[in-house]
Amino acid sequence: MARSEITAVKAREIIDCRGWPTVQVDVFVDGDLAGRADVPQGRSTGKYEAHVLLDGGNRYFGKGVRKACHNVNQEIAAAILGMDVTEQRKIDGAMIDLDGTENKSRLGANAILGVSLAVARAAAAISRLPLYRYLNPTARFLPVPLMNCLNGGKLTANELEIQEFIIMPVGAENYAHALQVTTDINEALRDLVVEKYGILATNTGDEGGFATPMRGIWEPFEFMQRACEKAGYKVGFGEDIVYGLDCASSHWFDSSRGVYVLDGLDYTREGLIELYKEVAAKYPLGSMEDPLDEDDMAGFAKITEEMPQTQIVGDDLFVTSVERLKLGVQRNAASAMLFKVNQIGSLSQALDAAEFAYRNGYGVQVSERSGETEDPLISDLVVALNSGQIKTGMPVRGERTAKHNRLLQIEEELGNTARYAGHDFHRPH
Ligand code: PEP
Ligand code: MG
Repeated sequence: MARSEITAVKAREIIDCRGWPTVQVDVFVDGDLAGRADVPQGRSTGKYEAHVLLDGGNRYFGKGVRKACHNVNQEIAAAILGMDVTEQRKIDGAMIDLDGTENKSRLGANAILGVSLAVARAAAAISRLPLYRYLNPTARFLPVPLMNCLNGGKLTANELEIQEFIIMPVGAENYAHALQVTTDINEALRDLVVEKYGILATNTGDEGGFATPMRGIWEPFEFMQRACEKAGYKVGFGEDIVYGLDCASSHWFDSSRGVYVLDGLDYTREGLIELYKEVAAKYPLGSMEDPLDEDDMAGFAKITEEMPQTQIVGDDLFVTSVERLKLGVQRNAASAMLFKVNQIGSLSQALDAAEFAYRNGYGVQVSERSGETEDPLISDLVVALNSGQIKTGMPVRGERTAKHNRLLQIEEELGNTARYAGHDFHRPH
């Protein structure tokens, strides 16, 4: 038997950071456990994402994943046993064909992705390489972390419509320094939040940012700015810090009236773009995700043209899909794609989307889901992609620290060859 032959595949139901069930897959090569991976899951999801197969019924309020695990253990295992674990594309293709649907709804994107990621881990392990190096021998860029320090939207119990207010430590020397800078600022922010809103306002949202009772768009920026100053860092393009946003605006777009409702006020698409421009005139806005509704490609094209200094990122807009990205590229909608493996449901397809993005001059921002486990796989992916930017939450709680700590290990392993993407986060190549 060849040393790279898949001899068993086993899925189990585990829980994520919200206590919701998700899929974990083990892939065995030549009788030994060679790769294991967990499937992340979103809460603030885009409507074009691949299908997450849930059990329904009463167990775990319908969110069990035993059916998805059963599909891995039965149908998928039968289809890929005996295949060469290094043939990622062939294995992913076999699962996609077996599923036979557009959005992986029969077997479940959570089933297929779990196997796909565990296969990659197993192939790296039998090659005796860390995953990032197995995927790309010239991997060397450590990403700028987009630190989501004030949370709103669907990820938090407060009234902020905008989901993520972000600091980007672009002026740091390396990843380790970026983490320190962020933590300095976050501690200063904590003091400011306590001063105005009391200690209860320092509870955190799903991605580790403070869940404060702030309102609208201006107040969070004022707090971030004061926190940076208090911690002794300069804000501005070419300085220590620039800001980012994930507006996740599909979730506060009132489609029946065609308006965005922000802090009690109605905004047309044009009105909202004007507001973003006013914010960017006052605060250096390095990156902005989903500023408009996921169906408004024309609006995305307009804002991309009108805000050239700000990277415009499509998350719900593109759902890590080459097909959706093609529509965007044709219209010049956005300048970067958010990269979430479970939006599309297989590693090969996600890598294809990143490749397509690069070929068309787009940046690629690798992202967590709000529902994560302690599996740090995306840290290897962001380095493998030389992407230069990662959104993986504040460095608090195990499911987020796992990713940051893995990046510290990778930075150390890369030694002199490591480069921190810094100010070139959009395209560090
Ligand atoms: C996001 O919208 O970018 C996000 C990370 O949230 P979720 O995983 O809930 O989609
Ligand atoms: Mg998003």
